[in-house]
Amino acid sequence: MVEFIETIIVGSGQAGLAMSHHLAQRGREHVILERARIAERWRSERWDSLYFQFPNRMMRLPGHDYDGGDPDGFTHRDGVVRFIADYAARNAAPVRCGVNVSALRRTDAGRLRVEAGPLSMEANNVVVATGPWQAPRIPPAAVQLPPHIHQVTANRYTSPSELPPGGVLVLGSGASRYQIVEDLIAQGRQVHYALRGHRRVPRRYRGRDFGLWNEAMGVTDRIASSIPPGTRSPLVTGHKGGHTADMRGLARRGATLLGSLRGIVEGRVMLNADLNASLDAGDAAFRDTLQSIDAFIAQQGIEAPPDDGADADARAVRAPAPEIESLDLGATGIGSVIWALGYDYDLGWIDCPVLDSLGAPVQQRGVTREAGLFFLGLHRMHKMKSGFLWGVGEDAAFLADHIAGRA
Ligand SMILES: Cc1cc2nc3c(=O)[nH]c(=O)nc-3n(C[C@H](O)[C@H](O)[C@H](O)COP(=O)(O)OP(=O)(O)OC[C@H]3O[C@@H](n4cnc5c(N)ncnc54)[C@H](O)[C@@H]3O)c2cc1C
Repeated sequence: MVEFIETIIVGSGQAGLAMSHHLAQRGREHVILERARIAERWRSERWDSLYFQFPNRMMRLPGHDYDGGDPDGFTHRDGVVRFIADYAARNAAPVRCGVNVSALRRTDAGRLRVEAGPLSMEANNVVVATGPWQAPRIPPAAVQLPPHIHQVTANRYTSPSELPPGGVLVLGSGASRYQIVEDLIAQGRQVHYALRGHRRVPRRYRGRDFGLWNEAMGVTDRIASSIPPGTRSPLVTGHKGGHTADMRGLARRGATLLGSLRGIVEGRVMLNADLNASLDAGDAAFRDTLQSIDAFIAQQGIEAPPDDGADADARAVRAPAPEIESLDLGATGIGSVIWALGYDYDLGWIDCPVLDSLGAPVQQRGVTREAGLFFLGLHRMHKMKSGFLWGVGEDAAFLADHIAGRA
């Protein structure tokens, strides 16, 4: 007998649980299938020193807000896991853990069939909430690294002490990579950091956290299709109470900054001469952010404290950094490489025509052209905020209405 249930949600991270919350509110039958544990990626695919990158007051899921005593502080990764697990418990979310969904297809009778090992289930609706960041990207050049070099992707990196002795080369330039570099420097590791572009912003400015200004200004509500291609996510960190990220500050603390990866040849890492372009782009983004907040405050007549000149270093006009053409891994004593170049989708188990040639879901606000098949929690799925913990609820409510409308 194949079990039938109206809606199957795949994945019990923040997205799957927000979906469950909204379906329950509408009285719709559903189950959540989770291959491991609730919030598994926050448990086992984030490094030990990671903090939530937005202030605690932005830890919110539908019907579940942060209620601790430090709304402007930042929560450690373990606290995020607790927050999500508490949400599941509070909602009595119908999660079945240890169920790894390996196939999804349409049956002859028109239902959606989900398979997970010996388990087969059918549903009218399936919501795929398996995460915005799935398979870490490793460039083809990785195979050229000498075999003695330890290689690890950002989702498997845990702490500096887990790496073999010696210098570390980190590649990538988003928030994750920056935080990993800070983590390594704090533990006294010699770090080389190859970056490509970045968008840095002040952590706090004129009395508010950047995340809250961004929300107030409506930036996080921007519709994805209106966001120019290539727009980067802001580089922020919640580590140690949160502070402004500054690449050049890393260099002052001992890291060697490099341009982006061009290739690897006979133990040498070849680099593009684009380091200064990256740094300048980051500096320009920082200044633009200050100006946009100032303009918003003036336009809205908000009573905000004046600019206190904080982050003076991060604002200063800086001399160009040296462009290094290549790095001899042996001579620089590098023993480990951390690949932090972003993620691809890993949705090959979906046997319905809803993926593009790169394996990414083709959807509009989570709705695919395959009746009853939905996605939730994708990066910029509908709005800028769609992939964030505090942003996913709105898309979940939209899909729950859609599913209720199909019943
Ligand atoms: C390093 C890093 C730091 C981040 N920091 C923040 C932050 O501070 N604030 C913020 O708002 N956002 C942050 N994000 C973005 C986003 O909030 C997270 O990626 C978050 O984990 C997304 O939640 P999700 O529920 O959509 O997906 P995930 O958390 O990825 O959850 C997907 C779930 O699906 C399960 N699953 C996957 N495949 C299957 C399958 N085939 N069968 C059954 N189950 C399956 C997984 O085990 C997992 O539990 C961060 C992302 C990264 C990578």
